[in-house]
Amino acid sequence: MSENKVALITGATRGIGKEIALELAENGFDIAINYRSESDLNEEVKKEIEQFGVRCELVGADVANFEQCEKMVKETIEKLGRIDVLVNNAGITRDGLLMRMKKEDFQSVIDINLTGTFNVTRNVIPYMIKQKSGRIISLSSVVGVAGNAGQTNYSASKAGIIGFTKSLAKEVASRNILVNAVAPGFIDTDMTKVLSDSVKEGIYSQIPLKRMGLPREVAKVVKFLSSEDSSYVTGQVVNVDGGMVM
Ligand code: NAP
Repeated sequence: MSENKVALITGATRGIGKEIALELAENGFDIAINYRSESDLNEEVKKEIEQFGVRCELVGADVANFEQCEKMVKETIEKLGRIDVLVNNAGITRDGLLMRMKKEDFQSVIDINLTGTFNVTRNVIPYMIKQKSGRIISLSSVVGVAGNAGQTNYSASKAGIIGFTKSLAKEVASRNILVNAVAPGFIDTDMTKVLSDSVKEGIYSQIPLKRMGLPREVAKVVKFLSSEDSSYVTGQVVNVDGGMVM
């Protein structure tokens, strides 16, 4: 059995999740990559991870489905032996002004982003309590802190993750489990590629660093929160946003 620590990362076949998986693999973690969609890309990501000489398993689940999350967590423990770090990264947007927003677009964002965070964490936490250690890091967003027109559903889900993080941090600190959130600003992934150039220009004007962030710049902060260097940090929301929200 490997001596490496094990990280389970949801939605890790592309975007920020993939960068987090690569960053943690580079730092010696064995990796469980959660995916929702079957794709040849999944095996490619697994191969990229294994190039760091660590073990990597693909574990499928829709995070909005509690039973699938239960099965995914069991499968991770069976294959990799333990879970030291959980990164709740899977997320979607369904943007639109509230007066036109469909109930399904509100509900699906809450189901995946917020209930999904509960579904995976609820299944991981008994293992972490038993092993008397663990890190839980959830991807919030600056819009969960500051709000954003056209994103009531997304902002509500990401603000919910902040309340969830702070409450759970208080519940499990005595068990040596640290719980934090990362709040990215505008990061260059598929999620933001859909924005028009004029919208992007408008966003840059609100960012002191005047550019989008890179997935790797978020992954570095997640690495810190997964490491011994953050042993006295819990219940925090770390903005990674080029100074957008202060
Ligand atoms: P992305 O490129 O759109 O990737 C999202 C990932 O989540 C994909 O791997 C996707 O899998 C997965 N996913 C979606 N629904 C899922 C479900 N029900 N079950 C399992 N996996 C699911 O997004 P990203 O930009 O990397 O964002 C990652 C996280 O950071 C999200 O929580 C997002 O809200 C947050 N964030 C992003 C930004 C930004 O500017 N990009 C800013 C703030 C916060 P599929 O391939 O199957 O769809």
